Amino acid sequence: MTDAHRLDCETQANDCRFIVQSEDESEAISLAQNHMRDEHGKEFTDEELREEHLQTV
Ligand SMILES: [Zn+2]
Repeated sequence: MTDAHRLDCETQANDCRFIVQSEDESEAISLAQNHMRDEHGKEFTDEELREEHLQTV
């Protein structure tokens, strides 16, 4: 069984329903990074996303 990496943007921005989910951690991180930058104007490092925002489901 493979775990998926998931970031639910609702935990960051109450009005955003964006969810990223991928079995590939680096893909989940880059998708989340793009979303955070393009939609919210926030820059997150890989480490921040991996350690603080990504959930394993
Ligand atoms: Zn968002």
